[in-house]
Amino acid sequence: MLMSQLYAPTLRETPAEAELVSHQLMLRAGLMRRSASGMYSFLPLGLRAVRKVEQIIREEMNAIGGQEVLMPIVQPAELWQESGRWDDYGDEMFRLKDRHNRHFCLGPTHEELITALVRSEVRSYRQLPLRLYQIQNKYRDEIRPRFGLMRGREFIMKDMYSFDQDEQGLDESYWAAFHAYERIFRRCGVEAHPVEADSGAIGGDVTHEFMVLAEAGEDLVLYCPHCGYAANVERAQGVEPEGEGAQVELKELQEVPTPHVSTIAQVCSFLSVQPENCIKTLIYLADGKPVAALVRGDHNLNEIKLRKYLKCDVLELADEETIYRITGAPVGFAGPVGLDVPLYADYAVKQMANAVVGANKGDHHMINANLERDFSVTSFADLREAQPGDPCPRCFKALEGARGIEVGQVFKLGTKYSQAMGATFLQENGVETPLIMGCYGIGVGRTVAAVIEKNYDGDGIIWPISIAPYHVVIVPVSMKDQVQAEAAQKLYAELGAAGIETVLDDRDERPGVKFKDADLIGFPIRVTIGPKSLEQGEMEIIIRRTKEKISVPVEEVLTIIRQILEDGDVK
Ligand code: ATP
Ligand code: MG
Repeated sequence: MLMSQLYAPTLRETPAEAELVSHQLMLRAGLMRRSASGMYSFLPLGLRAVRKVEQIIREEMNAIGGQEVLMPIVQPAELWQESGRWDDYGDEMFRLKDRHNRHFCLGPTHEELITALVRSEVRSYRQLPLRLYQIQNKYRDEIRPRFGLMRGREFIMKDMYSFDQDEQGLDESYWAAFHAYERIFRRCGVEAHPVEADSGAIGGDVTHEFMVLAEAGEDLVLYCPHCGYAANVERAQGVEPEGEGAQVELKELQEVPTPHVSTIAQVCSFLSVQPENCIKTLIYLADGKPVAALVRGDHNLNEIKLRKYLKCDVLELADEETIYRITGAPVGFAGPVGLDVPLYADYAVKQMANAVVGANKGDHHMINANLERDFSVTSFADLREAQPGDPCPRCFKALEGARGIEVGQVFKLGTKYSQAMGATFLQENGVETPLIMGCYGIGVGRTVAAVIEKNYDGDGIIWPISIAPYHVVIVPVSMKDQVQAEAAQKLYAELGAAGIETVLDDRDERPGVKFKDADLIGFPIRVTIGPKSLEQGEMEIIIRRTKEKISVPVEEVLTIIRQILEDGDVK
């Protein structure tokens, strides 16, 4: 490719719309442009990187017996009604109607479609296992599209679905995908750590997210440096503390006026107490029935844990009216004393004494509330969001926290979709049973962004060789110099013939401008052709990642470049 013809409009300035380094660099290096919030056009360089990631994914999916398919983006509402997700998916789903007024959506994911596809064809255990995947645009009307490709409303995903006849088969599919993911991210030049996660609305129980640890990440990962336990914060398990907590003298329960003081922070400053001495009482509707959840003032309730514990389908914070009806007070003054709904408390509440609680009366709190004496709870459970410093659920050492970018996720779905949608097969013994499913996603664009987030310097992107849009850029110091131009053309032809993806910067620009662009775009190898070195029969090879410069005899340039590319930089 000649640089003079390459459509890679680079920018000197950092675009104001971009917060994250990866987003800034993808715009500056001319990899992509925004067309609407969360929607991007890939330009040639960006698309080449994307296609390389896709190719790595494809090879690894094929290697575990995956077969590529391509399903429609536009999906009929009926299928989603069958699974029950047409309503559940909510505003994140882009919905549309055709000219006959029939309802459709733009696929945010494809469990329904693939289940429908397979149910009409798979009849017997002999056709299993089956692993089908596609690489395709997905559509989610995210509340906050941001950070470029990290959270788009249109984005490329690889989604694989496995169909097995029993749990053991699912286990094999799951771990095959899990290990394929490890290879995929390693080959893309980025370390992605598998962490235990929550399956959320998709269903199923066992799931891992693959996280690239980076400050830019929107997720919080808790991990144990001692035993290797790692989980998304939503999932990380708490440990039931032993013993009763410190023995302190129980003081007298008192109601105190706290005018206009309703948040924990306000209560703490008004009463001069610490958040860990307060109990937060949250009123929820669990499948419509009111319950109260208690957590320590400095802890956050984890709604996923509460929902699981209560085994309810819908858990929502109660509205003001319900809160008033149940507590007799406006929002912010609920407390466990005298509250006539089931009370579920996080383990940490068990160890509290002389706590500050809402008084179930407007503008009032109670101080010195104590368990058993002043209130009792229906049960204790692990209900709060874990945080760094908490004990590891496996080895009890302190957990550490890190931010992560979720680049992929694998799920054991079980029979959620096959059951709801009647996708069954005949077992060897003739019994008809639902297919056992798994699903496995990778965000392609998000992976590219995460790779950049971990591979850049002040000058620009540092592509891992494996996904670099091009491998080599040849930069003659002056294209006007006949000798340089000829040497450059000759090398360009040689590299091209050797199948090495090369750009020749044939522009009539100052060398400084060309070097800057080369660094910004991040070609792994630059060959500089200057008058002096050429006189000595040499060219200069510069490695982008290390900035190492090697003077090489002209006739050896190809061999050395080949060697560098073969050695690779992805270990
Ligand atoms: P998130 O929690 O980040 O919203 P998710 O868990 O909803 O993602 P999945 O349904 O697991 O996403 O999708 C599989 C993969 O697709 C994710 O691991 C991620 O890499 C990618 N992905 C999901 N949503 C987006 C998005 N809005 N933009 C870009 N990539 C996305
Ligand atoms: Mg996910």
